[in-house]
Amino acid sequence: MQSMKWALVTGASAGIGQATAKLLWQQGYSLILTARRKERLQQFEKALKAERPHQEVVLGTFDISERTQVESFCRIQDSVLSKLEVLVNNAGLARGVEKVPEARLDDWDQMIDTNIKGLFYLTRFISEKMLKNKAGIIVNLGSVAGRWTYPGGAVYCATKHAVKAFSEGLRMDLLGTGVRVVNIEPGMVETEFSQVRLQDDAKGKAVYAGMKPLTAEDIAETILWTIQRPKHVNIQELVIFPTDQASVRDVHRNV
Ligand code: NAP
Repeated sequence: MQSMKWALVTGASAGIGQATAKLLWQQGYSLILTARRKERLQQFEKALKAERPHQEVVLGTFDISERTQVESFCRIQDSVLSKLEVLVNNAGLARGVEKVPEARLDDWDQMIDTNIKGLFYLTRFISEKMLKNKAGIIVNLGSVAGRWTYPGGAVYCATKHAVKAFSEGLRMDLLGTGVRVVNIEPGMVETEFSQVRLQDDAKGKAVYAGMKPLTAEDIAETILWTIQRPKHVNIQELVIFPTDQASVRDVHRNV
């Protein structure tokens, strides 16, 4: 266990997080995988171990938006977290597309608590460890919504703008330590994201009707590429749209 290289991926029970974890596993990383859905994580662990039995998996089943749960996870996993080379801050979500005057405050709380506070809490603890090691890379899942805003997305976009600002500040606070900070900013990626946002499978699928969105694997490959750059190279920010999407408001559909 001592000589293994370790990566932590949050939101590894689905979508971009799971695809990224799979690629890191294939690159020989032992993994700490976190999400709320325990069964999903356990099934994923089983599939990974069947492929490469000598690497280690540690599961963290907790709600990242709950500060006490993040603190207790970090305390319990202190020794393995001290060896971490890669942190992929991926867990996140959008809820609702209502305009501000009609939106549900519970949806706002969930987005703010998960996308902003959860990501900040975990990074606080891990960055302290990477600082001591004078090495590591933190990859944040921002979004094109962190640069541009669209109607019905004011709060989701605000959370991703916060991830962008946090990434910049963190990079400044870690300057000179060798720790790299990357902000990946995808456009439309077909995952469970829209189903979670709209709380409806059919409506979630319809978001991608007639166009070819990015896949979770497209983003995972990009994340891996940023990690694999030489240590003196930091891809600070990376915007990736599908070819069928020109901006957050312009999507080409063959319908
Ligand atoms: P997804 O398929 O819905 O996956 C989201 C992941 O986040 C799941 O593993 C989920 O696990 C986890 N998660 C959500 N809330 C959590 C919480 N409170 N505590 C712990 N884990 C939580 O969505 P995705 O598209 O892969 O999204 C991944 C990231 O990419 C998000 O930050 C999203 O904002 C960003 N992004 C997505 C798109 C897109 O179009 N899909 C575009 C740009 C950026 P559990 O439900 O098991 O907890």
